[in-house]
This record gives sequence, C-alpha cells and structure tokens, in this order.
Amino acid sequence: MRRWLVTIVVLVGLVMTACGRASQPTVQPPVGGETVTGVAASRLVVVASLPILASMVKAVGGELVEVSAVMPGGADPHTYQPTPRDVATLAEAQVVVYNGGELDPWMERQLEAVRSKAKVIVLSEGLKPPEGVAVEEERVLGTPEPEHDEEHGINPHFWLDPDFAVIYIDRITAGLVEADPAHAELYRANAARYIDEIRNFDTWAKEQIATIPPERRKLVTFHNAFPYFAAHYGLELVGVVVLSPGREPSPQEVAQLVARIRAEGVPAIFVEPQFNPKLAQTIAQEAGVRVLELYSDAAPAGMDYLAMMRQNVTNVVEGLRG
Ligand SMILES: [Zn+2]
Repeated sequence: MRRWLVTIVVLVGLVMTACGRASQPTVQPPVGGETVTGVAASRLVVVASLPILASMVKAVGGELVEVSAVMPGGADPHTYQPTPRDVATLAEAQVVVYNGGELDPWMERQLEAVRSKAKVIVLSEGLKPPEGVAVEEERVLGTPEPEHDEEHGINPHFWLDPDFAVIYIDRITAGLVEADPAHAELYRANAARYIDEIRNFDTWAKEQIATIPPERRKLVTFHNAFPYFAAHYGLELVGVVVLSPGREPSPQEVAQLVARIRAEGVPAIFVEPQFNPKLAQTIAQEAGVRVLELYSDAAPAGMDYLAMMRQNVTNVVEGLRG
C-alpha cells in the first residue's frame, strides 16, 4: 500500500513537472551566434549547460559548431531542474560542455540518464582556487570553515577570473579537436584569437580597477560567485547576501551584513539578474549604499563572455569609484 502511494506521488510529481514546464523554452539559441544555415547537417552538435559557456564554445567553434544551452538565459543553475525536453536535446549532442562542481550537477545526472556517447568536457575539473583565496561563503562572513573535500565546497565560478577563462577555452578547444580532428587548425586559430581578446580585456580591466581608490575596492555581491574575480582584480570580498543557493539569510545575518557594509565603508552592493533583487535593495537602503548589477551564472540574452566581463568591470568601477 505504502509503496503504491509513493509511486503515485512520484508519478503525479513527474506529470506536474512536465506540464508546468511544457511551455518554457528549453534550448537557447547560441549566444551572439548566427542563424543556422544550409551547412547545419555537417556541423558538430554541441550542447552546453549554460548560455555563457555556450558563448565560449561558439568563440572557438565558429561556423563549425551548432551550439545550444540546456538552461535558459536568466535562470539560476544552482537550483535549475532540467525538463524532459532538455534530456532529449542532450541525447542528440555530439559534444557536451558543462562547468562541473556545484554549479550544474544536473548535467552529469542527465547524461547518465540518456546514456550519452557524447564527448564530455568538464571545464572546472581538477581546478584549484588560487592560493589565499577564501572561497567558502561561511569564511567570507567570518564564521568557522565548513568541512571541505575535493568535490564539494570548492567554489565553481572559475570563469569570472580571466586566467581560468583561458583554461576553459583551452579545454573546449582540445575537446572540439578530439571530436572533429579534421578542423583542428581552425579550432586552434579561433582559440588563439579569442585568448588574445581575453588578455586584452584583462589589461583594460586592470587599468579600470586601478582608477578606484584602494580603500574603496570592496565588493558585496548577491551570491558567492566572485571570489576568483575579486582576487584577480585586487578587490576585497566583504560579504554576500545569500550564503548558499536557495537559502534566504536570517534577519540576524542580514543585520550583520548591513553592519559590515557600514563598518568597512563598502560603497555599493551588487545584485544579479537571476535573483529577486528585493532583499539586496532592503540591505542597501539600510546601509545607505547604491545597488548595481553584476553577471555571473546568467547574463542578458545575446551577451557573450567577454561582453559580460566588460559590463561587470564597468559596473564595479561605476559602483565603487565614487
Ligand atoms: Zn553561481
């Protein structure tokens, strides 16, 4: 009897999930990409977990790949639930690209479910935080360090540090070359050009950050996506609004954050488009600081990796320079 009940509950849940999401678009067009032309049949079919990672694949693959993202733009990957259509998309992929770690764990589960034979590229696999970077949310707020093992507890947002973005591009390139060796030279040439662009961006970004007075280089973000970005650009990560994805802070935690923003003289706090900005606006109001936007896991439709990074640096400078 009990087992039947469980089965029925599970079935109803599945039907509800399917219905509730049926109208939602599940496959995003390539970010900043071109429309598919007559040569589509010969293109390598690549599926990435997030639009921002798909934009990196597009930069390397160009016209040789047909790339899409499982997660729609503007969603939060940490709490994303793949739909039946996502699973079907993944089943057809020749190459699959995802970040790994605690960002998009649903990709690994779905790949197993469809018994995918695709070439899989896990962009953050084996990456370690740079020395001295505090990556745990709890440490940012000064509470004891949580239990830490190799797979869990490592902050997955490596791509927001351009040095790690170069590693992502190298890994995408190696994967595409392996899947489509006939076009190896083209992939490598595209990658070299894109890495040059990342380096040029980074030089510009450092010049921009240098215009912020040192005592104002203090960052408070919505979720803990920016420890590597902050470390790379010499910003002090003073706090985050949401300690872990999907968990609202307690009133006491909010009060502590407001107190820290005031005590440290943090000039502004940053929201992200995939989250409701209300809480951050309340905190900013209480602390008497500005609210601006940063992009991490989600960027506006059509915005590729480098455009997103330029916008982030522009907004940080606007918010902190004074
Ligand atoms: Zn995130």
